Amino acid sequence: MLIVMKMDADAKQVEAVVEVVEERGLKAHPIAGAQRTAIGITGNIGIVEPALFQDMPGVLEVIQVSHPYKLVSREFHQEDSVFEVAGVKIGGTDLVIMAGPCSVESYEQTLEIAKIIKANGAHILRGGAFKPRTSPYSFQGLGREGLEILARVRQEVGLPVITEALDIDVLDEVAEFTDIVQIGARNMQNFTLLKRAGRCGRPVLLKRGMSATVTELLLAAEYVMDQGNEQVVLCERGIRTFADHTRNTLDVAAIPAVHRISHLPIIADPSHAAGYRDKVVPLSLAALAGGSDGLLVEVHDHPDRALSDGGQALLPAGFKELMDEIRGLAPVLNRRLPEYATS
Ligand code: PEP
Ligand code: MN
Repeated sequence: MLIVMKMDADAKQVEAVVEVVEERGLKAHPIAGAQRTAIGITGNIGIVEPALFQDMPGVLEVIQVSHPYKLVSREFHQEDSVFEVAGVKIGGTDLVIMAGPCSVESYEQTLEIAKIIKANGAHILRGGAFKPRTSPYSFQGLGREGLEILARVRQEVGLPVITEALDIDVLDEVAEFTDIVQIGARNMQNFTLLKRAGRCGRPVLLKRGMSATVTELLLAAEYVMDQGNEQVVLCERGIRTFADHTRNTLDVAAIPAVHRISHLPIIADPSHAAGYRDKVVPLSLAALAGGSDGLLVEVHDHPDRALSDGGQALLPAGFKELMDEIRGLAPVLNRRLPEYATS
């Protein structure tokens, strides 16, 4: 932290600030400039409250120098984090493609879509069993039955699965059935859920809240990591803006912003960002060009009959087109689209 004194601050006022700093067991380093004095503070383990100094006589500004996060930060872990989920690499050079329906609707539907995405090179099957819906009258997901369907399809098709844990009541059950636990945008700051996810024994995919800053996203990930879970993948899924040509606005810049600060992998969800099928492929490619480590994308073979998010689901042909495009783009970006031996 740096405390900048006003130009007319006198020696007594500087001394008073130094005293408050030292009373807290910290070190004060007054730096006399040509026009004003600034006081650097070192030795702080946690956050020093700016409010302690803000209203002291002679203080102009209190600047937070170090970041409030630790474990997610590149300062603590310089290399990109790479981890494996059921043989699938997340992070590093390899791109990871997670695809599937918004909701698990039936065994037949999930199996059919899983086969389609696998045939086109996807690595992980997505599908919600517990759905966060804006309206209580919308389809809420099949719940436990959905988890059981996912587990069956996982077995039959040989793809690891990701599904959302909507609250702490279902978290353990979800962790038991899935390879990756998804924390949805609406739950990004559900701190109780984040802590529990940090202890669930599974990798966690953490979606950015629709009005969360990158710092807030990283602090949410810090909650999960602080519980001992190092396998966190972030997901940019679009934020609320005034734009009405898409459901949300994919904040592509958040991807390099996260990479600069954090070692954690970050993927993009072009489906919830776009809200409309026709924009999903262009947004996917934009995200990958921006450094995204992969995609989480909705696919449905009968989107007109889908119980949620049909309008943004890629048709099988659209998903094939996307994968073909990624195969062409990956080498240009020095990335690899791995093809794992099928089981
Ligand atoms: C989803 O992935 O189906 C979902 C509900 O996403 P989000 O939390 O980003 O809205
Ligand atoms: Mn959805």
